[in-house]
Amino acid sequence: MKIVKISAQRPDSKVIAHAAEIIRRGGLVVFPTETVYGLGADAFNARAVRKIFKIKGRPEKKPLIVHISKKSTIDILARDVPSVARALVRKFWSGPLTLVFHAQKALPDLVLGKLNSSIVPSMELFIQPKGRVKTVAVRMPAHKVALALIRAAGPLAAPSANFSGEKPPTRVSDISRALLRRVDLVLDAGSTSVRVPSTVLDLTVSPPKILREGAINKKQLKKFL
Ligand code: AMP
Ligand code: MG
Repeated sequence: MKIVKISAQRPDSKVIAHAAEIIRRGGLVVFPTETVYGLGADAFNARAVRKIFKIKGRPEKKPLIVHISKKSTIDILARDVPSVARALVRKFWSGPLTLVFHAQKALPDLVLGKLNSSIVPSMELFIQPKGRVKTVAVRMPAHKVALALIRAAGPLAAPSANFSGEKPPTRVSDISRALLRRVDLVLDAGSTSVRVPSTVLDLTVSPPKILREGAINKKQLKKFL
């Protein structure tokens, strides 16, 4: 494991390119978001995503949020996107609001082109809950390092960079050494600013349902529900 300092305001493009290369090869990178530090993998690489579950000791039933760098990626991952989603995105993105959608049934060629036969699209396996309705949780973080990394590497499946059940880290010094030893690279941009996980809103039901109240509260969402 290697810890590299990176500016939260002006991320060094060489460091980002190196981190993106690690992600593309199926590695794991700890990176900052505005809420907490995330443990990121290529969202379309099942083997890489599986490593996240193993390292964290995370129950397989608990799917991962997919982090994206531009709003239009919603339509690659999700289908039947309701109009309220566009309004929510306009108001709260980039920012600590995760939206749950019906997942696309098949990944478009754009995404499939990146895959080889040893890698199965994780859409089916890991970033969705097991069960009848296939959904995908999506968020666009408000952090220049996170956005630059996603732009360079593609969508990242990322939970918080802690062992399951522990407190999510807001500084690299909060992350346990045992976890750090098992990742390929750590991008250290100092303390995160929001320090509370994202609010998760399910848009597959009507009215939308708050699954987790985090950095954005119920009152702020009220007129959208
Ligand atoms: P964490 O990664 O620990 O911050 O947790 C992410 C939260 O988002 C958990 O509460 C998950 O259950 C929820 N989540 C992630 N993906 C989905 C999904 N596809 N459908 C519903 N909830 C999800
Ligand atoms: Mg968590």
